[in-house]
Amino acid sequence: MHPLLEDAAQRASRYLDGLDARSVAPLPDALSRLAQLDVDLSEASQSAQDVLQQLDDLGSPATVTSNGGRFYGYVVGGTLPVSIAAHWLATAWDQNTPHPSAAPGAAAFERTALRWITDLLGLPSTASGAFVSGATMGNLCGLAAARHAVLASVGWNVDAQGLFGAPPITVVVGDEVHPSVTKALGVLGLGRERIVRVPVDAQGRMRADQLPLMQGPSIVCLQAGNVNTGACDPFPAIIEQAHRAGAWVHVDGAFGLWALASSRHRHLCDGVTQADSWATDAHKWLNVPYDSGLVFVRDGATLRAAMSISAPYLADNDRGDAASDLTPELSRRARGVDAWAALATLGRSGLRDLIERCCRHAQRFAQGLRDAGHEVLNDVVLNQVLVRFGDADTTRRVIEAIQRDGTCWCGITQWQGQTAMRISVCDWATSDEDVERSLAAMVRCARTSSMRADSGFAHPR
Ligand SMILES: *Cc1c(COP(=O)(O)O)cnc(C)c1O
Repeated sequence: MHPLLEDAAQRASRYLDGLDARSVAPLPDALSRLAQLDVDLSEASQSAQDVLQQLDDLGSPATVTSNGGRFYGYVVGGTLPVSIAAHWLATAWDQNTPHPSAAPGAAAFERTALRWITDLLGLPSTASGAFVSGATMGNLCGLAAARHAVLASVGWNVDAQGLFGAPPITVVVGDEVHPSVTKALGVLGLGRERIVRVPVDAQGRMRADQLPLMQGPSIVCLQAGNVNTGACDPFPAIIEQAHRAGAWVHVDGAFGLWALASSRHRHLCDGVTQADSWATDAHKWLNVPYDSGLVFVRDGATLRAAMSISAPYLADNDRGDAASDLTPELSRRARGVDAWAALATLGRSGLRDLIERCCRHAQRFAQGLRDAGHEVLNDVVLNQVLVRFGDADTTRRVIEAIQRDGTCWCGITQWQGQTAMRISVCDWATSDEDVERSLAAMVRCARTSSMRADSGFAHPR
């Protein structure tokens, strides 16, 4: 066994050491070689060593370099070396963690990671939390607890009786709601479209003065960190109105909630801790491996009511913190180990530096692009930058050129009717030099693409 793990470690090291020199987007040749995988499973077995070699030969070159300092697509983050290493070790443990009795060590690390994160974000110390696969699942769990609580308040037990014949629930979202929230609402039988959409301002923040009148069971979904602009909803005004109407407030804070870890950016999330449930991600800004998200619910009994599982063969859990009673999962890996390792290594100051460094890099991108004559569309308050390079066609062409160039990678988005490039900085590894190299590549690609357009060479019309 051991030579195999050492081989894997060496290959992984080689991969990580090579990140800086390679194209961020995989090269076409590496992608076309993936066709070699399209074979039937052979009757014969082969050596694990050979299999690992094939994985490395075919797989490593075909990766997007998202675990590096110059990938700014989506909002993905990288992986701290210590959390890769911890992840490997915990994989060797092979602990199944639905319940502390089956994995006491892993459960203890998860418990500590949860307590640290609760504390870092300033969430109520009595809240229940759990690691899930991502913020999508975090949203699902928080909204399941919400659904349970608002129906229980009118005498309906949704977890026993389902939604057939239940009193209706008013669900309020901002017009910029993340699709993972509407997906969770659909899965929960609350409807992807049967929702009240509240208008947003120019940064995508829900307008507190546009909240509808809420009567009866109601859920309000807010956002910490708009996926395009990074903006956060005005929590104090909305949460106060919602609570006065008896509504449950759930916050999707996949990356934005981490602003709470920095005194410089915490103000964006002022009042957010007054909500009733929160979803966030560890695999984005905390830079741990996939898949790792979190849910926190102020009144843990509601989450347990929505998620609990029991059977004579599942041991009692006096503490009430079994992951299988707080998440949709039964068998699950010890996600909290990776987060514990990341947090223990960074400490409060390291996490603060990571958050603030990424935000500073975002400012530098915005300034550098403005200096080059390009239009930044959002107020850069966090780690997100939206930029356009002229009209939609030109912007699209420049983004394609940047992706092809390979120095860095950014994606395309639509922001309030305009086509834009989205830069998201949330990788621990992004350095000042990465930012300058990437900026230079963006400006160079923008210049050459628009020159080609002017000459009518690239897109004759
Ligand atoms: C990424 C993201 C999600 C979804 O999180 P996953 O971890 O991909 O499930 C939800 N909301 C926002 C704002 C996000 O940025």
